[in-house]
Amino acid sequence: MIPFLDLKKVNQQYQTELKEACNRVIDSGWYIGGRELENFEQNFANYCGTKFAIGVANGLDALILTLRAWKELGKLKNGDEVIVPANTYIASILAITANNLTPILVEPDPQTLNISVDAVQMAITTKTKVILPVHLYGQLADMPKIMQIARQYNLLVLEDSAQSHGAQLRGIKAGNWGDASGFSFYPGKNLGALGDAGAVTTNDAELAHTLRASRNYGSHEKYKNLFAGVNSRLDEIQAAMLDVKLKFLDHEIEHRRKIAHLYLDQIKNPLIRLPSNNINAEEYQQHVWHLFVIQTQYRDQLQQYLLDNDVQSLIHYPIPPHKQQAYKEWNDLSFSVTESIHRQVLSLPMNPLLTNNQIEEIVRLLNSFK
Ligand SMILES: *Cc1c(COP(=O)(O)O)cnc(C)c1O
Repeated sequence: MIPFLDLKKVNQQYQTELKEACNRVIDSGWYIGGRELENFEQNFANYCGTKFAIGVANGLDALILTLRAWKELGKLKNGDEVIVPANTYIASILAITANNLTPILVEPDPQTLNISVDAVQMAITTKTKVILPVHLYGQLADMPKIMQIARQYNLLVLEDSAQSHGAQLRGIKAGNWGDASGFSFYPGKNLGALGDAGAVTTNDAELAHTLRASRNYGSHEKYKNLFAGVNSRLDEIQAAMLDVKLKFLDHEIEHRRKIAHLYLDQIKNPLIRLPSNNINAEEYQQHVWHLFVIQTQYRDQLQQYLLDNDVQSLIHYPIPPHKQQAYKEWNDLSFSVTESIHRQVLSLPMNPLLTNNQIEEIVRLLNSFK
């Protein structure tokens, strides 16, 4: 079986350093809010090119706490509208509803599958306060245009960068385009912890300061609570694991790009649509290929055929948020592009451990699918 992703093997590559780091934390006797966290926050901020990175417990919390901090700072209030792509992972939308803000779902661009700039423009009302673009599958949304619209209408921009650590557009990385960005370090993400973890990046000192309190019971100083915060801390062991893996991230991204190029060059089947890349060749280089997502009208048959031939593939995602039971009130809404994407997408194995033989086998199977 060619697995979609073998996390054990991914982490075994770095096991000596991971175990050393883990032992260092055990021996330190200090497990929450110490040097490992500070160190990783600094290194991750440097990596993204931002002034600040604030570690939190997971990617969902990174998004929730940022919107909440903007409420705390008086920039948002209940009922304000947040424009978000309809074809995202549900976390992007949960972060909005968890804050009593109103998600305004818009269609993606059918080429890139990232949020459509025209749709964003059409969705703006007097209540719009935030645009929440998602850099889906490892490719930045059209941030130059989104930032231009945001400046024109005086809107905040919160990037969902959970799938796009290290992705760039015009030399600017995911996490350094908007007013703030949420990252996930869920184990299967391109930069994955060995458990749950997340971070917010920003260049805004006031937001960073507020978030450092929000994640820690609303407190900068022990037993002095400025507001009703939560417990959403990134612990020392996960920070230490992430700091080890951050050093290898660019190397892994290079490897993902090589695999993507092989897939793009070699998969030739009129029934299969390959992922298309942003705007031009230079920007295409900067995709980090968290997922390699093909589309076909025969998706379920293709997935079964691959499985019958010992290749595991996954669907990201089978049901769009507006059709989920969690959001019953939206079940009658219709987003035709989003719905067709959810019926047609299939994610091929994509990880730095795929061998050339495995890639050849996957390509051969796809090319003979009828
Ligand atoms: C993974 C993911 C999240 C949530 O991250 P968690 O760490 O699982 O909470 C948010 N948005 C997107 C687009 C994701 O892929």
